[in-house]
Amino acid sequence: MINMVRIQPNIVKWYRINGRDFPWRHTKDPYKIMIAEFMLHRTKAEQVVPVYSKFIEKYPCVKSLFMAKGNDIKKFTAHLGLHWRSRHFIESVRYIIKKFDGKFPDDYDELRKIPGIGEYIAGAIMTVSFNKPAPVVDSNIARFINRYYGLNLDGELRRKREIIRIAYELFKYKNPGLFLFAIIDFTAVICKPRIPLCQNCPLEKECENTEITLCKNKITRPNQQQKKQEGKKYQKLEMDSE
Ligand code: SF4
Repeated sequence: MINMVRIQPNIVKWYRINGRDFPWRHTKDPYKIMIAEFMLHRTKAEQVVPVYSKFIEKYPCVKSLFMAKGNDIKKFTAHLGLHWRSRHFIESVRYIIKKFDGKFPDDYDELRKIPGIGEYIAGAIMTVSFNKPAPVVDSNIARFINRYYGLNLDGELRRKREIIRIAYELFKYKNPGLFLFAIIDFTAVICKPRIPLCQNCPLEKECENTEITLCKNKITRPNQQQKKQEGKKYQKLEMDSE
């Protein structure tokens, strides 16, 4: 695996200077991480902040949410257009109380059994709350891996075995939770979907991205012969911002 050791420190260094600050990034409490992730589903983080803060103030722990009335929870989820997800809030804490006596398990497979907790949320809890590596892959992280390693995979990248395997390796960092926050921001701001800001990227020198070549004011695609040259890195020149 190429340059694995350089990725984490470089992205974390970038994050320490440029990263965003959210209330759920100041806690390791798995309950709060779960609530934040439920709310962040298809919703902008900035929109989630006030709702999350009020929710945590009212329901600061598993037990308090367990005691809550369904209609009260719906008032919060309705703010985010997540009315249909309110059952995740209720069913997850019911399960945690019943199966784990209110304490989150530090095991990926056990976390996955909790209603509403999918692969991504389980991975987020493992890395942030329990400081353990897990393959945390969303579409942004998958796109970054595909580009950086020049994999040229198509389709639903976050489901590809090779991407998941590399993600798991990436999160074997001394502080996987910090790395998660860092790569979330890095892939949203620098290695972004349409036109990545390669000229501002701390990984630009070793990136194997063969999918697009960034030139002045335009994107050109490499031909087949160029693509075949393993490890070929195309010159990235100044580009206009999006
Ligand atoms: S150099 Fe460009 S494509 Fe490669 S990781 Fe950085 S932003 Fe993404």
